[in-house]
Amino acid sequence: MKKLEVLHFPDKRLRKIAKPVEKVNQEIKDIIEQMFFTMYEEKGIGLAATQVNIQKRLIVIDVSENRDKKLFLINPEIISLSDDLDTMEEGCLSVPGFYESVSRPKTVKVSSLDFNNKRIEFEANGLLATCIQHEIDHLNGKLFVDHISALKRNRIEKKITKLKKEGNLSSRKNTPNYKSAI
Ligand SMILES: [Zn+2]
Repeated sequence: MKKLEVLHFPDKRLRKIAKPVEKVNQEIKDIIEQMFFTMYEEKGIGLAATQVNIQKRLIVIDVSENRDKKLFLINPEIISLSDDLDTMEEGCLSVPGFYESVSRPKTVKVSSLDFNNKRIEFEANGLLATCIQHEIDHLNGKLFVDHISALKRNRIEKKITKLKKEGNLSSRKNTPNYKSAI
């Protein structure tokens, strides 16, 4: 299977709003498999289609220690968010090697289509809840750096642009908590 190319901030294509999937068919299932493959290869815990320049509302996630609990979301919709917030260090495969604290609702109730085009609902908390919200942001053209100060965001943008120019962006993948990148 071929690894899909992950776009990096500040690529403008990361700002596109993904379109809903009309029908879950073999093509969609194949894209999801390719996205899982890319996410595992990149050692991330989540990936949104927007990050691989596919403008469809698709997300893959695996927050398990053993990397064996695949979760996919098709046309995800947030049903409710808790008032309680959780603050976590977030990273992103599109912002390699940079981590910042972001506060988001602790619990999220979400719905998604399954492979039979049926809408299912479930509730998530902790890391999974953070991950789901981070990925849905991607589908709406938003990145975790939009949740931090403009000063920090501009600093990251400058550093990434410089690293990319020097051809050193991929070495950022060896940073200690890279495995938590979403
Ligand atoms: Zn991300």
